[in-house]
Amino acid sequence: MTDATTRAVVGLGGTGRMGSAMARALHLAGLELVLWNRDPAKAEAIAVELAARVAETPAALAAAADVTLTMLADDDAVAEVYGGGEGLLAGARVGSVLVDMSTVTPGTLGRFEAAARDAGAGLLDAPVSGSTASAASGQLTIMVGGDPADLARARPALEPLATSIFHLGPLGTGAAMKLAVNTLIFGLNEAVAEGLVLAEHAGIDRVAAYQVLAASAAYLGYKKAAFLDPERTPVAFSLDLAEKDLRLITALARSLGLSLPQADTNLAMVRAASTGDRGGTDFSSVAGELRARARGAVTQGASDGGEGSR
Ligand code: NAP
Repeated sequence: MTDATTRAVVGLGGTGRMGSAMARALHLAGLELVLWNRDPAKAEAIAVELAARVAETPAALAAAADVTLTMLADDDAVAEVYGGGEGLLAGARVGSVLVDMSTVTPGTLGRFEAAARDAGAGLLDAPVSGSTASAASGQLTIMVGGDPADLARARPALEPLATSIFHLGPLGTGAAMKLAVNTLIFGLNEAVAEGLVLAEHAGIDRVAAYQVLAASAAYLGYKKAAFLDPERTPVAFSLDLAEKDLRLITALARSLGLSLPQADTNLAMVRAASTGDRGGTDFSSVAGELRARARGAVTQGASDGGEGSR
């Protein structure tokens, strides 16, 4: 590893939309960069712009770097770039750290854990939330799984990219957290689409409707206590009222000839969560309903002679 008086050399594998934006942020932070991309023309174009070096193979990239970041499309890309005779692990230096920042299956990087250990290199999964703009301006959120000592060694390459870096647990937990984040993002995206189209079809100007939606949905901060400490947090809005609203929403949508699949799902969830005497609990207790279903599935699996009883 480079000592404190010399600049850390950062390798970056994958100079697509996100990778190239990250390269610019790392360059701005004064780090020495080595780049590799499957299509070498893309890496070469950015290398000229940033006065960086280009490695011919992933193995050569890892051999040249103290910390090697990868930002690749999917599981197959990560498997190809980390494995094989010319893969990152074939070239990784003792004491270096390999950090995959792609959005992939939580188990993908674990397949390379033993090889990394044999090479004397650290391995982290560290996917990101944010956009190409937040990558270029160093404002990503990074979710890390792996050994905290490896994270400490990777920090010089991660800090210029992020406003927040969360360590979540062992290898794979960063990737799992990223999928949880995207569960929220895609749910919100669908919800925004449904709310906007409902307002438009009810005769409201699209721009005005978007402004009202944006001014009304500071949701996560407002519901924090209810989600984190449901037993002790006073009910702010009951499931019964949520059920009434979702009935009104889905009825209005039907009358306008609209299909709002997420609103239908939300109504079904709220109804399930309110069974028995639970209609008076807070509408955040749909999370409790999900937990109860998960416990039920485990119990069911055990009584069926499934995984749990083997
Ligand atoms: P992108 O522009 O399509 O770039 C994909 C990169 O993966 C390219 O460098 C591409 O190389 C490489 N690649 C694809 N298949 C490969 C293979 N089989 N072997 C080697 N390299 C391969 O995608 P992106 O938007 O930068 O996204 C990269 C990752 O970040 C994804 O996992 C994405 O889900 C995640 N992400 C994206 C955003 C965003 O706003 N875009 C935000 C958060 C997270 P070539 O140039 O040779 O094709």
